Amino acid sequence: MAVDRELPTQEAADLIALTREIADAELAPRAAAYEREERFPREVFALLGETGLLGLPFGEDVGGGGQPYAVYLQVVEELAMRWASVALGVSVHTLACGPVDRFGTPEQREQWLPEMVGGRLLGAYCLSEAHAGSDPAAMRASAKATDDGWLASGEKAWVTHGGHADFYSTFLRTPDDGPNAISCFHLTPDLAGFSAAPPEQKMGLTGSTTAAMRLDDVAVPGGRMVGEPGRGLAIALSALDSGRLGVSAVAVGLAQSALDVAVAYALEREAFGRRIVDHQGVAFLLADMAAAVESARATYLVAARRKDAGKPYSRQASIAKLVATDAAMKVTTDAVQVLGGAGYTRDHPAERYMREAKVMQIFEGTNQIQRMVIGKHLAREATPANG
Ligand SMILES: Cc1cc2nc3c(=O)[nH]c(=O)nc-3n(C[C@H](O)[C@H](O)[C@H](O)COP(=O)(O)OP(=O)(O)OC[C@H]3O[C@@H](n4cnc5c(N)ncnc54)[C@H](O)[C@@H]3O)c2cc1C
Repeated sequence: MAVDRELPTQEAADLIALTREIADAELAPRAAAYEREERFPREVFALLGETGLLGLPFGEDVGGGGQPYAVYLQVVEELAMRWASVALGVSVHTLACGPVDRFGTPEQREQWLPEMVGGRLLGAYCLSEAHAGSDPAAMRASAKATDDGWLASGEKAWVTHGGHADFYSTFLRTPDDGPNAISCFHLTPDLAGFSAAPPEQKMGLTGSTTAAMRLDDVAVPGGRMVGEPGRGLAIALSALDSGRLGVSAVAVGLAQSALDVAVAYALEREAFGRRIVDHQGVAFLLADMAAAVESARATYLVAARRKDAGKPYSRQASIAKLVATDAAMKVTTDAVQVLGGAGYTRDHPAERYMREAKVMQIFEGTNQIQRMVIGKHLAREATPANG
């Protein structure tokens, strides 16, 4: 079902229409087969780049689309309705462009950003390590200063687009900047010793490659550090707030598709002499699914509009990520239920949606971590009752 969206401008409405056209023609027909064959759709990202859909929230001065975040996220949601792996890829690419856009020197921005946000290059974001996911400050991979740059070694885990990306925003310990210092680097696959491990064998999102990236004494040239030495963790965490909104939009798109599949089935399928939608038990399930999807959409839009207005939005981003991804898990699970036995087979997309939803509660900070973030904000922002 086409989602009726409140959009701020005619330009934004045209953008959504263009996204639907491209997604219907190029994403929807490929999704099931690519997911089944675990194929990474590099050519789809090239197309999204050509059509300007990979740089929407970045400034027009560097080749981006100059769109508000609330519009960009609705584009991501539309993509996710047809293919979650691709929508996730767009979100990760945006995340990967963030450090250079926000913390790069004027020279770095001028040299790198137009190709990145113009979509001619695909990005990846290397923060996690095998032993340091929820707690990235425990990372071990490091870059030690040399005469003309750094020597990097270690392994980054779970890299979306690992082995396919053209640039990697990578966070490494830099012991020369202090005992706990972490810094951000712009790494490219041409650097000798920087290589991808075999892809992870995942439960879902199998069209999106996830692989560890190995750093075997990589000579990183000078000029590749992004932001100030030792400020990497702050850069990483600030980018994650907007990344969480990207995942929220992907989750809502996925949940919307699951709802649509369930409603269509309930209108056709008959049991006890009538359509199953006419059994109140099924209609109430569908109603709860619709309420979950719409309220999840509202939470990410509230956070995005705060970001667009220049207001703090970290708490709202965590709430959106928590609400939207829990909604996606519940709605996709209920969609399988509405389809009955058929929902448990690969003849229908509901089981794939359910497998794809699970990981959304895990990446970009697990939902336990989102609760921690929200709790910390509440403790910090609340006025004592007696104060
Ligand atoms: C498909 C996929 C793609 C990914 N893509 C990327 C990427 O592109 N770049 C990147 O850097 N990372 C990526 N990740 C990594 C992802 O962000 C981490 O998996 C996630 O942050 C969780 O870390 P972990 O797996 O080490 O779990 P752990 O940190 O080991 O957590 C295990 C469990 O303990 C819970 N837990 C941990 N600490 C606490 C606490 N203090 N309180 C309560 N509960 C806690 C967690 O919620 C979780 O349930 C990806 C992961 C997946 C699966």
